[in-house]
Amino acid sequence: MDSVVLKSYGKINLGLDVLRKRPDGYHEVRMIMQTVGLYDMLTMKKKKEDKISMKCNLSFLPVDEKNLVYRAASLIKETYGISEGVDISLNKKIPVAAGMAGGSSNCAAALKGMNQLFDLGLTTDELCDLGVKLGADVPYCIWGGTALAEGIGEKLTRIASMPSCSILIAKPGISVSTAFVYKNLKLDQLDHHPDIDGMIKDLESKDLKGICEKLENVLETVTIPEYPVIEQIKKFLKNHGAMGSLMSGSGPTIFGIYKDKKTAREALAALKDMKEVRQAYVVDPVDDPDQM
Ligand code: ATP
Repeated sequence: MDSVVLKSYGKINLGLDVLRKRPDGYHEVRMIMQTVGLYDMLTMKKKKEDKISMKCNLSFLPVDEKNLVYRAASLIKETYGISEGVDISLNKKIPVAAGMAGGSSNCAAALKGMNQLFDLGLTTDELCDLGVKLGADVPYCIWGGTALAEGIGEKLTRIASMPSCSILIAKPGISVSTAFVYKNLKLDQLDHHPDIDGMIKDLESKDLKGICEKLENVLETVTIPEYPVIEQIKKFLKNHGAMGSLMSGSGPTIFGIYKDKKTAREALAALKDMKEVRQAYVVDPVDDPDQM
């Protein structure tokens, strides 16, 4: 095989809880992760020259060792002593630095791509062991689907998949730094935590209403006071038929859950008038990205 083309899916968090800050500075989390049908395209081509070359449709993203895709290819080359090179092309659609794990997902796709391209025969567990060296969310992105992520995000448990629904994703034109959000999170002042276990039960019983009632992300306690537009968009989505709405990850992407595509598309059309929103899509939840 001389070339591979991979879809690299984004995720949302149906629930995000932070349990404590560890002495090493990392935060221990409990998150329900869900892959959604919004993806970047990654093309990888083998070449004789011992070099990684990369290009990307977004000129502001790095295409050297600062890019997680480049780092994934480099890690595989070093670990398995590969002396051939690879040409990589990344076409991004997932909002960047937006709480949808776009970079981690690209990294996961690159690890899988290298595995196929160089016929390494690595298992999912082996890919996850490599992935965690590049980012706590990378193992989840290798799994995809619906999962509980604990530890710093790398301890994964498969949970029941999401019931059929439509998801509207809206990214406002603001940038939120993940470091800023965690730094300003007042863990001791949180008066409520997401009901993660309750949501897992709702997923098992396919209770979409129960899931929507339990959507909660403790990082909103930092981002919403700082960026009120996030609350504004959440309200807009709920006023336009969403059964529930939440910020994903450390933001600023917001998603709304709709019982069907028609209602979600109507809300998407209405959203066109909201000038604060820069990117918006209607997508489905994805159970198994490798089958898509
Ligand atoms: P998370 O949900 O894990 O916090 P995110 O959606 O907030 O992720 P990313 O889109 O992954 O954030 O990007 C965060 C930063 O990582 C970007 O500012 C960018 O400079 C860097 N980066 C490195 N590689 C990539 C990549 N392949 N795609 C996007 N960003 C990348």
